[in-house]
Parts: sequence; structure tokens; C-alpha cells
Amino acid sequence: MECRKYLPALARGWCPLCGQPYTLPCFHLCAECQSVLPPWSKFGFGCYLTGTFQEIVYAYKFREKLAYLDFFVSLLENGFYRHKLTRPDIILPIPLSKGGLRKRGFNQTLELAKGLQAKIGGKVLTLGLRKIRENLPQRTLRKKERFLNVQGVFALKADLREKKVLLLDDIYTTGATLREVGKVLQIQGVKEIEVLVLARSC
Ligand SMILES: [Zn+2]
Repeated sequence: MECRKYLPALARGWCPLCGQPYTLPCFHLCAECQSVLPPWSKFGFGCYLTGTFQEIVYAYKFREKLAYLDFFVSLLENGFYRHKLTRPDIILPIPLSKGGLRKRGFNQTLELAKGLQAKIGGKVLTLGLRKIRENLPQRTLRKKERFLNVQGVFALKADLREKKVLLLDDIYTTGATLREVGKVLQIQGVKEIEVLVLARSC
């Protein structure tokens, strides 16, 4: 596909639990994951967020460029197999706030989840996860503030005990949102949590 020429090369190595890129071909846990293990057992990503690829991801996210959707779903599918994730019972997209949904009119991560479901199976749980209070957009905050900003924001509205859940998000920056959601799932007794994101910041 034409878009593929804009893809940045993958790093030579990366942290297996958050995708942090390394210049050397090694695959050990990064310092951050060593100090606090993420609440998931596997992590996959489609590509690194840089260059022209970053521009088209933002165009999709903020300007509803749905023409890119099939391309992004194929990247997610590649990431799913490249990082050896396991077939989920449930695909759980990270929800937007009500304000974000009103402003944008569509949830870009939900669209990705539906496309991915057609490729790998599992069931997309549209309303499984709710935001129970509004918070500031993460991209407006510094790293430490992002972790505080998401605390207590999400609630699980479905019984997912004993399920294998794939958490899906469009962009991974600090991992604050996914870590918070993962904690909520762990507390609720979800059997296995894996994470897949379209683009990992680098
Ligand atoms: Zn890591």
C-alpha cells in the first residue's frame, strides 16, 4: 500500500512490555518497567510515532481522516502477530471522554478495534469501560501529571473475570492511561491482560 513508504523503521530492539526503543538489538525490560511492572503480560505496537507517519496518525485522530483506517488496522494486525500476542476473548478500546466524543464525533480507537476484530477475532466491548469523571486531555500535561490525571477515572462496567482481554489504544506515550485501566482490570480479576497500540512514541 502507498502509505507504507512513510513508515519509520522499527528500532533494533525494544522493551517487551512498553516498546521503549533501543539502539542495540536487545529486548530487556526498560528501567521504568523494571521499577514498576505494568499490569499486562504482553505488549504490541504497530509502528513508532515519528515523521510522516506521526502526521497521518494525528490526521486520523483529530481530523477524522477515515481513509487511513484500513491501513492502520493492517498495522495493528502486523503488530499483533509480530509481538506474539494471544487471541483475546475481549477487545477493549480505551474510551474517549464525553467532551472528546462530542467534539470529534467519533472514537478513533473504537473504529480501530472493530477493524481488528474482523482480522483476529474476539469481541469488541464498546461500553465495557467508562470514564466516571472527566479529566484533562493527557497531551496537555507533563509526564508526572499524566499519572495523577488518570487516577480513578475509569470503571469497568462488565464482568470480565476469567477473560483474556486485549486493551487497545491509538497512541502510547507515557503509558499512564493504560497502566491505570490495567490496574482496574486486575482488581476486577481479569485473567490475562495484553496491550496493543497503533503507534508508540519514541
Ligand atoms: Zn518498558
